[in-house]
Amino acid sequence: MSSRYQIYSFSKDISAYKKFMLEQDLRRAIQHNKFELYYQPQIDANDGIIKGAEALIRWNHEEWGLVSPGEFISIAEKNHLIFDLTNWIIGEVCQQLQTWKTEGYTLRPISINISPICFLQDEFVDSVKQQLATTQISPKYIVFEITENKALTERENAKLILTKLRNIGIKIAIDDYGTGYTSVQYLHDFDVDMIKIDQMFIQSIDDVNDKDASIVASLIHLAKGLGITVVGEGVETYEQLQFLKQKECDLIQGYLFSKPVPLKKFKKMMKTGYLYPKKKAKYVPKEE
Ligand code: C2E
Ligand code: MG
Ligand code: MG
Ligand code: MG
Repeated sequence: MSSRYQIYSFSKDISAYKKFMLEQDLRRAIQHNKFELYYQPQIDANDGIIKGAEALIRWNHEEWGLVSPGEFISIAEKNHLIFDLTNWIIGEVCQQLQTWKTEGYTLRPISINISPICFLQDEFVDSVKQQLATTQISPKYIVFEITENKALTERENAKLILTKLRNIGIKIAIDDYGTGYTSVQYLHDFDVDMIKIDQMFIQSIDDVNDKDASIVASLIHLAKGLGITVVGEGVETYEQLQFLKQKECDLIQGYLFSKPVPLKKFKKMMKTGYLYPKKKAKYVPKEE
């Protein structure tokens, strides 16, 4: 056997071992509160003002360090631990909002990713209502991000739950927009407040003539025609920002402004209130 084979099989073992260990540890991690929310700001494309943020979960694991959601959300969904985890996330965001309010921060809506299996569960709406009541947080500061594919398979049920949530005053965003097969139909059938154009499209905007650029421009145009707020996600370059600005995309989220950051750093950002793009200083935000 060549050494190449050995390296391959070794790394495969490591990832299988890690997955196995994460599966074993997840329940205990939830009981012992080993999770942390990071926040990634969403910036107004016109003036650089922070208009919101997405909460993104991280697992502080004794052995593996910071574990990203891509490595454990699907495990949590499979083990049904996602219900407890999602409850914790919503509670944590509500509590933070409450703290920020008492500390005098200007509150901005916080987006929370909701797994389809949670969203479609009967008790979901009631448990959300309860969390809001306990913390006395206005629902207008909560956005739920859902991806389109799963909800489509239970269309009527999804519609009912979306309506209930929107009646409470919670905003709904469609995450990874454009990757589903029936995206346009979706906007027709469901009332949503926001779409987040998938990073895959954003990151392949190289020049204004390419195909992805045309898709992004059409998606923005379509959504805005329906009164839906548009977020460009995964914005990494100044060229992508310029393109999105020119097409009147409302909000920008991506490494160009900031990676997801821990709570402490996010509070500093909120205090300042606006962000500059990282690589070039050509872009100067207006004061509010
Ligand atoms: P998502 O909701 O689409 O979140 C965006 C992901 O893109 C985040 O990865 C974020 O760090 C990353 N990102 C943001 N800007 C850029 C950029 O400019 N360049 C690149 N390359 N990446 C960027 P993250 O935090 O690893 O989360 C991955 C996915 O895991 C999320 O995708 C979401 O589907 C899921 N997830 C994260 N947090 C939660 C949670 O609290 N609950 C649930 N159910 N799912 C979550
Ligand atoms: Mg998201
Ligand atoms: Mg996304
Ligand atoms: Mg995604």
